[in-house]
Amino acid sequence: MDERKEMLMQSQLPTPCYIVDEASVIRNLEILQGVMERTGARILLAQKAFSMYRLYPLIGRYLRGATASGLYEARLCAEEMAKPLAQQGIKCENHVFSPAYKEEDFAKILNYCDHIVFNSWRQVEKYGVRARTAGKSIGLRINPECSTQEGHAIYDPCAPGSRLGVTKKNFINGLQESLLRLLDGLHFHTLCEQDSDDLEKTLEAVEEHFGEYLAGMKWINFGGGHHITREGYDIPRLERCVRRMQEKYGLEVYLEPGEAVALNGGFLVTKVLEVQGTDVCGPAAVCPGSMPPEERLQIAILDTSAACHMPDVLEMPYRPPLRQSGQPWEKAYTYRLGGPTCLAGDIIGEYSFDEPLREGDRLVFEDMAIYSMVKNNTFNGMPLPAIVLRRENGKFELVRRFGYEDFKTRL
Ligand SMILES: *Cc1c(COP(=O)(O)O)cnc(C)c1O
Repeated sequence: MDERKEMLMQSQLPTPCYIVDEASVIRNLEILQGVMERTGARILLAQKAFSMYRLYPLIGRYLRGATASGLYEARLCAEEMAKPLAQQGIKCENHVFSPAYKEEDFAKILNYCDHIVFNSWRQVEKYGVRARTAGKSIGLRINPECSTQEGHAIYDPCAPGSRLGVTKKNFINGLQESLLRLLDGLHFHTLCEQDSDDLEKTLEAVEEHFGEYLAGMKWINFGGGHHITREGYDIPRLERCVRRMQEKYGLEVYLEPGEAVALNGGFLVTKVLEVQGTDVCGPAAVCPGSMPPEERLQIAILDTSAACHMPDVLEMPYRPPLRQSGQPWEKAYTYRLGGPTCLAGDIIGEYSFDEPLREGDRLVFEDMAIYSMVKNNTFNGMPLPAIVLRRENGKFELVRRFGYEDFKTRL
């Protein structure tokens, strides 16, 4: 579709709205499929990053299945990926990991999942026999105590005192033959938006701490956080890591990326509601009273909120890419973009533009498919953004619009 027609169609969409771009997701899926074909690794979608299930049948045709953080995601995979694909004769795997399972959920989880990963020996003791009797493949999450990321302690399961995964010491302390015999695999998840050199380092730690148990397992799961579909990611090194585990220990290798599946796979379209001036100057050292507005920071209030619609902007934090914009002061007009909530810190970031922003202008934030829709909330009574799918053929499909009832019924 040409750009003008596309702009016209976008101008008719409600705002705020997420547009998930099927072609971009397919591009990612093809990269992941290449890794699977060359190595025999099995790649799963981590649903917590992207649960836009309209695309699950597509994703399930490329990947091996999905993984869940608990009962609801496990059920979503069963209903929206495994079931439609079973009708086409394709089998999907449904995995689950939770730091602790609830007694009342566990029987249902057994109905949906074929792989169950536990977070402690106590959980294996509590549920392991039931899972085994039901014919499930059972794993234990380990903590290789190898931090490879800096500055994001909230995303580091290897930080001291972590509740995620069994350390070598606790592995040995809780080790009982009867529990070890229940295990089919080991699982670790320690990366976040990282390249394969960090995976390689982590695997060395896994081998150092848990190597003697690997050969007795059927599989190892490398978790998520592999930024495989990002430009410049070192795929050959990832594949060497996979082959090493396959060849040295005879293991089946699983990867469960979330981000990489829908990285740069969608947009958030928003509208400018109001433009305000400030007294804050640009990079010039002095700020005379007569300074023209374009040399001052201006504010644009949008109909989308960082706190409600892109919480990772505040939590990570990061600056989402915005189409046709520059760094602050790079272009003529610099704006601080903020949401319409009461939160003073509901700021998306500062961006510059060639032309002044006007009320009613539409802005398009990029890379908004992951960790966005799944994290939405209605704080301040903010409406949830509509969800639109741009099919591979360029057609726009309205997946869902939300209204007042969606706000009210959660309270
Ligand atoms: C978050 C998570 C993933 C997916 O992580 P991404 O960074 O989105 O790739 C996979 N497995 C587990 C256990 C997770 O907690």
